[in-house]
Amino acid sequence: MTDAPTADGDHGPRDDHPRRDPSTLAVHAGASAHDGSALSPPVFQTSTFRFDSAEHGAGMCSSVAPGELYTRWGNPTTKVLERAYAELEGGEAALAFASGMAAGVTAVMAMVRGGDHVVAANCLYAGMTELFDRVLAPLGVETTFVDPGEPGAFEAAVRDNTKLLYVETPANPTLAITDLATVAALGRARGVFTIADNTWASPCNTRPIELGIDAVVQSATKYLNGHSDVIAGAVVGKQTWIDQVWPYLKIFGGCPSPHDSWLVLRGLRTMPLRVERQNASALTIARFLAAHPSVDLVHYPGLPDHPGHAIARRQMKGFGGMLAFEVAGGFEAGKRVLEALRLATHAVSLGGIETLAVHAASTTHAPLTPEERARGGIGEGLIRVSIGLEGPEDLIADFDQALAAL
Ligand code: PLP
Repeated sequence: MTDAPTADGDHGPRDDHPRRDPSTLAVHAGASAHDGSALSPPVFQTSTFRFDSAEHGAGMCSSVAPGELYTRWGNPTTKVLERAYAELEGGEAALAFASGMAAGVTAVMAMVRGGDHVVAANCLYAGMTELFDRVLAPLGVETTFVDPGEPGAFEAAVRDNTKLLYVETPANPTLAITDLATVAALGRARGVFTIADNTWASPCNTRPIELGIDAVVQSATKYLNGHSDVIAGAVVGKQTWIDQVWPYLKIFGGCPSPHDSWLVLRGLRTMPLRVERQNASALTIARFLAAHPSVDLVHYPGLPDHPGHAIARRQMKGFGGMLAFEVAGGFEAGKRVLEALRLATHAVSLGGIETLAVHAASTTHAPLTPEERARGGIGEGLIRVSIGLEGPEDLIADFDQALAAL
């Protein structure tokens, strides 16, 4: 976080971190932010730090994101994680948060005021849709929701008072794909800030900042940590923007605990290996489901008939570990399939080592009204699956026996 912006103001990797194999990057990300000979950074499990003098205290309290003042303001273990987040996304700087929602809400609240307008994708993680519809609308921030797959939809919705374009790709839970380079170009042309939630792709599959997007939001709970044992979030962008967001982190208070920062650091070391396996298994299982007579529709950007396939091929290195499917007979039939699964676990969340499956309309997207779900194309029977690290043949056998329950 303390690194200077690159000389040309470019978002690309810093000069001392040339582009590398993602596995190399993940193993070493953040190393420059901690001293000493310990390979694993120490956990600074402290809420506060001693001042050397009154002047030292005054200096710390007037600085931006000090690392050793008070853990809500910054923490040395969390600084290592923030450096790692920035390097993994190819951005200049990052902030770590206690959850993906804390990251997304803080980033958005730093960008908008009453009277401003936002253009957002119509299919997002439900908490972010709730932020725009339930929190920001009463504060006088109007949001226009657009179909991210419709060419020209974002451009048509931009107004003179639009301050933010907010997208998520692949989208939760429909896997709709947004063309990030087009959104970024629109933002630059109209002077509108762009944020992409990169949770579902992970930085192993998509690097939105390299495509011109101004900032990335991550639920690090998912692929970055990868072990279903921590809630965490990140924002990544230019140093000047991160410095603007930090006061909101300090005021809203969504900092991570130092121990959670350390756990995410440990988890992200293996992310490229995990994601490579999840990409391959998800494609295999998506193909199996697409050929199954009881499955009506499979949503997976790696399938050639997915509406976002061509864009996904351009902007994703792998098609990700998330898929969704719909069975004939809608919700009631979907419920029978979920309850018949033996290996895949019926639970919310995603991006971990275990395969998880949920019915989106009654769980992850239940906080939305039926109209909000319909606006985002979230079918009432849609089953969302996060593919884990189990053997793909074992998972196929499990889905096969569960579908036989129909
Ligand atoms: N963004 C996306 C795309 C998500 O899927 C989620 C959670 O599922 C979030 C944000 C929120 O993250 P968290 O649960 O870490 O607050």
